[in-house]
Amino acid sequence: MINLVLFGPPGSGKGTQAHKLVKKYHLIHISTGDLFRHEIGSQTPLGIQAKAFIAKGELVPDEVTIGMLRNKVEAHPGAKGFIFDGFPRTIPQAEALDRLLAEKETAVSGLIALQVDDEEIVKRIKLRGETSGRADDSNESIIRNRIDVYKSETAPVFDYYVQQGKGHSVDGIGSVAQIFERLSAVIDRL
Ligand code: ADP
Repeated sequence: MINLVLFGPPGSGKGTQAHKLVKKYHLIHISTGDLFRHEIGSQTPLGIQAKAFIAKGELVPDEVTIGMLRNKVEAHPGAKGFIFDGFPRTIPQAEALDRLLAEKETAVSGLIALQVDDEEIVKRIKLRGETSGRADDSNESIIRNRIDVYKSETAPVFDYYVQQGKGHSVDGIGSVAQIFERLSAVIDRL
């Protein structure tokens, strides 16, 4: 199995690249942000719980997120592998992912971080907010809070995988096609 973690700050292009990578490598794409938005749209208890955190630009609590992720992985028993997009975002989530994959006698193959600076992120998310309908994309102070949360809670996940010899990064500035080439080059060497 190939299990990839696509990593990087909000608005770094993870979702765009994940959609292209699943086609090339025949993997299952799991985006926790998309899963939460689906639950919110369906007004499920999980969605109602998650909505308050997402609206403020905070992380949804680990136990909620990990449970949802596990259900999604277990819904695809025959998968060739997964692309995790937006997960893990905390060290406990990374530890839970490692345990879950170990139960399935597999592991994270590699984590690839898309590197994009803060001002570019704010610019991209504001632009996305004009059409995405996402409340968390339309307010600069919420966007900046998401960047702060990324730095304090999520960035340590990169070091966690570096310690396992699995951390990689690519320049996230350029055309969609250029960044796709950079990611593919890393994946082909995993
Ligand atoms: P972006 O990468 O643009 O911030 P996402 O769609 O990945 O957007 O996530 C939107 C929001 O959903 C996050 O700001 C956070 O509140 C919540 N979320 C997504 N994934 C996780 C996660 N793994 N743990 C906790 N909260 C999450």
